[in-house]
Order: sequence, then structure tokens, then C-alpha cells
Amino acid sequence: MMVFGRLDELYAIGGGTRRGYSPEEDAAHDLAAGWMREAGLEVVIDEAGNLLGRREGARVWTGSHLDSVPNGGKFDGALGVVAAIEAAARLPDAPLAVAAFRAEETGPMGSKRLTELPQAFLELHIEQGPVLERAGEPLGVVTAIAGQARGAVVFEGRADHAGTTPMSAREDALVEAARFVLHVRESVREPAVATVGAIEVEPNAMNVVPARVTVAVDARAPDAAGLDELIAAIGFEPGSRIDPVAMSGPPFDALAELLPDAPRLVSGAGHDAMVLAAAGVPTGMLFVRSLNGGVSHCPEELSSEEDIDLAVDVLTSALARLTAVD
Ligand SMILES: [Zn+2]
Repeated sequence: MMVFGRLDELYAIGGGTRRGYSPEEDAAHDLAAGWMREAGLEVVIDEAGNLLGRREGARVWTGSHLDSVPNGGKFDGALGVVAAIEAAARLPDAPLAVAAFRAEETGPMGSKRLTELPQAFLELHIEQGPVLERAGEPLGVVTAIAGQARGAVVFEGRADHAGTTPMSAREDALVEAARFVLHVRESVREPAVATVGAIEVEPNAMNVVPARVTVAVDARAPDAAGLDELIAAIGFEPGSRIDPVAMSGPPFDALAELLPDAPRLVSGAGHDAMVLAAAGVPTGMLFVRSLNGGVSHCPEELSSEEDIDLAVDVLTSALARLTAVD
């Protein structure tokens, strides 16, 4: 299938490392622009460098991003662009546009700077998690993209000699922080998730009682009330917060009708679709199964050719519905 070969061609650029606004991302955009023209799309590049292959009167957009994390996988982002071009080629008369947004992994930077918005947006993306693989299902319909709250919590203690200070006389900041890490885990009610993924210990010496510990908290929930609840349960002050967004309107309905029995998922990862939905564009997202236990942002990221075939069929059908003249 053409889609798989094109993913290989994109992956060959930079060996899986295509940072936003780098020469490697530029090269990926050039390659995709050629494929867009072959699919009968007119290529336009906006001020942010986003690549848009469009047809006359295009009000429905589909696409994703071509940048990657360092040493990333073959499917994250690229699949959504390549599949969109394939769907556009299969619908030669549909008034649609295919978008390749800039620098998703470090922003998203490109989709945030759009000066023009479509009436509807559809994004196909690899799941980047194990849910579909565990369910034995090739495709899933995204219902919402989780909101995120991040912040740092500081524990103050007192530096002391590790040999001469009795246990009862210590103020050990790391022991307090350790209790907090467990508290974070116990505060979560699924489908929300929360993670302490980074800690800083001062002075960080084997023979000194820890004086100060900074703990980074990342909390995510599928709806705003759930995120508020989680923040309150953990008891921290987020330094940054992005509200959750629901998938909705004709793009979501089209996917839901085409896949009535497919699992419904909340995306724990952010996507360009999140930016468009937050800007008020009715948006739908289709997930394709991640293999290898759902690993992503690494070269082991994998989806099968069969699953991708199915996903391209569904994307094409959904776009045919959305662009049908009534
Ligand atoms: Zn992505």
C-alpha cells in the first residue's frame, strides 16, 4: 500500500528525528507537498509554515503533523498526513483540504497560529497507548482530549549529618516527598491519571539528610470538573493548565456512525485536534491500534498495515459524508 511506503520515506528523513522548524521538518513538508499535488490538491503555505493542500471551496480539513520527538516513531503525526492525502486521492471531487501542521511536538506551534479555521476537522492518529491492543480492536473513536494541569510542589526540611543525627531529630524533606508521591497515586480516580515524573533533591548527597525536595506533578482528566476534582484531591497549585476538549459535531458523529461498536477513548496525549476543537471547530479523531504494548515516541512504535488500511477506509468514508453536498 502506498501509505506504508510513504511512511518509510518520511521516516528516512533525519532517521526519525524531525524537530519543528528544522531542515528535516522542511524536507518532510516538501515531500508531502509533492504528494498533495499528485492527489489533485493546490498547495498553500501559511505564515506559520503550515502546509495546506486544498481544493476549491474546502471547508473540511483533515491532517496532522510531520515533526517528531528526537528519535521518534514512524507513525506519530506522519500517519495522519499520509492517510489524509490517500483519502483525498480517493475522493477526487471532494472539497476538502489536507493539513500538515508545524511543530506539534513542541507546542503545538503551527495549529495555534492558524489565521483561518475550517468548518470541520478530522485527525487520524496512532493511539500511542495500549487500550486498543488490549481490547483486540483495530480502531477507536476519540470522545475527548484530556485536560492537563502541571505544577511543582516543594518540601522543606533540614540538612543534617546522616551519621550523627538521631532518627527522631530529623526533618527529612525526601521522606515527606515520598509520602506525597504515594498520596498522588491514591488521589486518582480513573479515567483520570496523575504522575510524579521528576524530583529534585537538595543537596542530593548520600550522607546528608535531604533539606529540600521539588516534585513535579502532571495531572490529566477527560473533563474540566474531573480535573478540578483531581487537583483538589492532590492538593497542589498548578503552574499551567489546559482544559479538556470534547470531540463533537459532524466529524465526531460521522466516525461514531461508521464505527458503532468500536471502543470510545479519551486521548491522554495532546494533539493538533485539541487546538482546533478549543478554537471552536467541530472536531473528530480516529485512533488506530498501537502494537508493541502501545509504546510511542520511540522507534519501536508500530501499527500494522491491515489496521492502517481499515483506518484509511474509515477516514475516506467520513470525509465523503462531511463533504457531501446536500
Ligand atoms: Zn502526534
